[in-house]
Amino acid sequence: MSGRPESLFPLFSRLETLDGVGPKTAQVLAQSGVETPRDVLFGLPYAVIDRRRRDTIQGVDLPSTLTVEVTVGIHRPPRNKGGAYRVHVEDSQAEFQLVFFHARGDYLQKVLPQGARRVISGKLELFDGIAQMVHPDHMLPPADAKDIPEFEPVYHLTQGLTQKTAFKAARSAVALSPELTEWIDPAQVAKENWPDWLSAIQAAHNPQGADDVASFSPAHERLAYDELFAHQLTLALARQRERRVKGIASAGTGKLQSRVLSNLPYKPTNAQQRAIQEIAGDMASDTRMNRLLQGDVGSGKTLVAFMALLVAVEAGGQGVMMAPTEILAQQHLEGLRPLAEEAGVVLEILTGRDKGADRRAKLLALQRGDIHILVGTHAVFQSDVAFQELRLAIVDEQHRFGVRQRMELSEKGRGADVLVMTATPIPRSLALTQYGDMDVSVLDEKPPGRKPVKTAVVSTERIQEVVSHLQKAIAEGRQCYWVCPLVDESEVSDLTAAEERFKRLRAILGDGVVGLVHGQMPPADKDAAMKAFQQGQTKVLVATTVIEVGVNVPNASIMVIERAEIFGLAQLHQLRGRVGRGEADSTCLLMYQPPLGEGGRKRLEVLRETEDGFKISETDLQMRGAGDLIGTAQSGLPKFRIADLERQAGLMAVAQSDARALLGVDAKLETQRGKAARVLLWLMKQDQAIRLISVG
Ligand code: ADP
Ligand code: MG
Repeated sequence: MSGRPESLFPLFSRLETLDGVGPKTAQVLAQSGVETPRDVLFGLPYAVIDRRRRDTIQGVDLPSTLTVEVTVGIHRPPRNKGGAYRVHVEDSQAEFQLVFFHARGDYLQKVLPQGARRVISGKLELFDGIAQMVHPDHMLPPADAKDIPEFEPVYHLTQGLTQKTAFKAARSAVALSPELTEWIDPAQVAKENWPDWLSAIQAAHNPQGADDVASFSPAHERLAYDELFAHQLTLALARQRERRVKGIASAGTGKLQSRVLSNLPYKPTNAQQRAIQEIAGDMASDTRMNRLLQGDVGSGKTLVAFMALLVAVEAGGQGVMMAPTEILAQQHLEGLRPLAEEAGVVLEILTGRDKGADRRAKLLALQRGDIHILVGTHAVFQSDVAFQELRLAIVDEQHRFGVRQRMELSEKGRGADVLVMTATPIPRSLALTQYGDMDVSVLDEKPPGRKPVKTAVVSTERIQEVVSHLQKAIAEGRQCYWVCPLVDESEVSDLTAAEERFKRLRAILGDGVVGLVHGQMPPADKDAAMKAFQQGQTKVLVATTVIEVGVNVPNASIMVIERAEIFGLAQLHQLRGRVGRGEADSTCLLMYQPPLGEGGRKRLEVLRETEDGFKISETDLQMRGAGDLIGTAQSGLPKFRIADLERQAGLMAVAQSDARALLGVDAKLETQRGKAARVLLWLMKQDQAIRLISVG
């Protein structure tokens, strides 16, 4: 595919080719990312103004925007400077006034000559009992009045842009739009009764009523689908390319797995078993695995990961698991090493702290194949880390891992299978958007015997009470996390909120009872603090959100979160997931600083009502929108201009299966529909996809 199809040239030309757009307007538009007629085209109107002609203003409820034909009466210039210039007009039954400020009289005499007929459109209001229209939107001779659309589309404006300019520009962008061959599955088009692309564009910019600008209108829905389909096509192309790279077939013997399982004090849940099988199936085939393991907090992803790593070892190779923090890497080491040892598997850790001779020794062992499984932080993917035979790479708890980073990772592995595990459940539509190139396993079941966490929302004004409860709980042998927000991230203050709280709690609860862990601490101190808490030496662990993901201390049964109202829902859910892991009843106290705003209150209530991570994330999506939820910048999550992920989640799933099906029968996009789909990719500026097909 050599270049952009000619049919799209006009849409990718300069903005100045549009009516009413000069260099200045073009500059204004460019500032908001609108650079071509194509960009103008995809800024759909969000409302309509009813400008259907009426005979009279008589009987209309004011204020109201209306359009009526009048005879122009007398002009009344302002009596003093800065006053209003008034023009009396009369329709078939009633009189009203047109009002202008800072207007030039000679100009008004010209456009509104006394005695002439004019079609006037604008917002009519009552002032002091007199019906007035201030600065009408339109004042045209009846012969020209057909230029006023019956339903005028309303566009989002950036500063320096008027509705009139936006309307004109959009109308001429529509005029530049070509007819394009259909790229959507014809069955889908027929089922939804969607218009073809050009008709959809025309209809969206020419609404015939309020329904036509709604996201459920056939035109909007079709154009939204185009966006989603283009995105899914990109992901499907990436997936296809990944799969074309010959993978390594890793067939496990089951020997190590069964040895480990027989040593476990519990049985895997059905969901875990299913996921383990799905992964083993992928690994056994010689297409490379690219799978996502999604599961709520505490659903037991680690065991699934370990079983997958054992398959790699059983097949005679190595596996690596990367965690986002040292604490987690350390925890994987401690949790998994005993299991590994019993099965005769060598498991090591590599983090940024490994230096010098130690590190060299580990790297050598790795290269020789003496280490079977490596856990660690980003350090495991440094350029000088070489494996003897890497068969599986796992990325744990990386909800900020974008498509591009994943591709880089799998390039490192040369054919190695890839498993990504998400810490946070995300709604299906987002999972499809962000991980649409992957296959997905879901742990939708928690290990049995988990007790619900009692969640309470309390004001910081009651902190004394909270502390005295804490004292009692400690006396009963319970342990508690106390989470403080980073109040000011930028300020390198000596005392973070956590340090301050640590000192105060220590003063009340006594020396040696309270531990502290936060991100800026030297790694060794962090470890020591975690260890002391894990082993029950300290009873209270004051922490920043470094304990957010993955940390597992079953004896901890109380979670206090200060200023819970400033945390995100997903984060709070993660934090709460740190308790409720043991025998004891667990409590989560969400402390807020009054007054609590509407949004804050709603968020905390959701948490009180449910522990279902998927439900919580759906609410989060509704309240915050997709970009915010994942953090668009880091995630590589595309910005959709028309599609609404919150409301059109279903469409995304259809788009994915349609995209995969199309590539299934037309891998190189060479059929008529395939070629049409290429045009779509150009139209949607899917550079990445375009590169993938040009190379492939
Ligand atoms: P997450 O999915 O949040 O990473 P973990 O893998 O840390 O969850 O597991 C949470 C806890 O549940 C661990 O203590 C683990 O040993 C335990 N666990 C995992 N699977 C099971 C199971 N099938 N039955 C009982 N406990 C389990
Ligand atoms: Mg985990």
